[in-house]
Amino acid sequence: MSLVDHPGRQHVHIDHAAILRQIHAEVAPLVGQGKVAAYIPRLADVPANRFGMAVATLDGRLFEVGDAAEPFSIQSISKVFSLTLALEALGPDLWKRVGREPSGSAFNSLVQLESEKGIPRNPLINAGAHVVADVVLSSNRNAREHLLAFVRERADNPGVIMDAEVAGSERDTGFRNAALANFVRSFGNLDNPVEQVLDFYFHQCALQMSCADLARAFVYLANRGRCQRSGKSVISAGLAKRINALMLTCGTYDAAGEFAFRVGFPAKSGVGGGIVAIVPNVLTVAVWSPALDDKGNSLAGAAALERFAALTGLSIF
Ligand code: GLN
Repeated sequence: MSLVDHPGRQHVHIDHAAILRQIHAEVAPLVGQGKVAAYIPRLADVPANRFGMAVATLDGRLFEVGDAAEPFSIQSISKVFSLTLALEALGPDLWKRVGREPSGSAFNSLVQLESEKGIPRNPLINAGAHVVADVVLSSNRNAREHLLAFVRERADNPGVIMDAEVAGSERDTGFRNAALANFVRSFGNLDNPVEQVLDFYFHQCALQMSCADLARAFVYLANRGRCQRSGKSVISAGLAKRINALMLTCGTYDAAGEFAFRVGFPAKSGVGGGIVAIVPNVLTVAVWSPALDDKGNSLAGAAALERFAALTGLSIF
């Protein structure tokens, strides 16, 4: 049992280990339902029957169930790390180049870019992540190393890698990302060559992390921008709040409304089947199951988070 200081309520006792075991059993029939992302050929080989979940609390404890220690391709979850670095580098000027509204379209859609003159709707769709990648590239001599060091430090795991095969596999088939980045560049909203922006973007997407890594790595967003271990500021509390807001409204693609309705946590998903969610001032929770629903979110993972919100009573609403 643990004592959680739950905002707005008195202390709430939550037995995370028991809750994770219960969720693991409850979602077992859903694991493998849906489709593993195949448009990145290297991801198509990942077995659909995996399920892992991890919770990191702000008092430094970690709870795990299932395949929580198995590294997987975090894909779009990486957009939150890059956004953190870009906001640190550019501050509010970033918002001149990328919006803060949900797109209501698929994460890799081209349609809004034409009428909105190359300003992507938000930093968590692909075109927005290309602009963010461009900012990180412009502000670091070795952007890839900088991002990797940041993620390793956040996860407290020097073993985190970017899988070159996954990045290469996406580069070889990334025609839509190339179209998006070229289109954005045609409006003057990328400073670096498209190939460099995409190379950085594909490598950030190819970060391999486990649920345990992800739960630890995102604690700064639950902890008002501070590292839980050192107490040091990673970003300001104000920026942590903003990133959480963007995750809630834009973090699960065009299913963000449905996700807020069902789950009620700021969250970011990736087509590798991972989803990370933030409970501000309380904990982070990461889940992984590779088979996706038709919006590209982990089917069993979303169900697990819905149960987690219900069983803990920690929805932000
Ligand atoms: N690398 C993937 C892509 O650009 C990331 C998409 C995702 O996880 N939603 O298509």
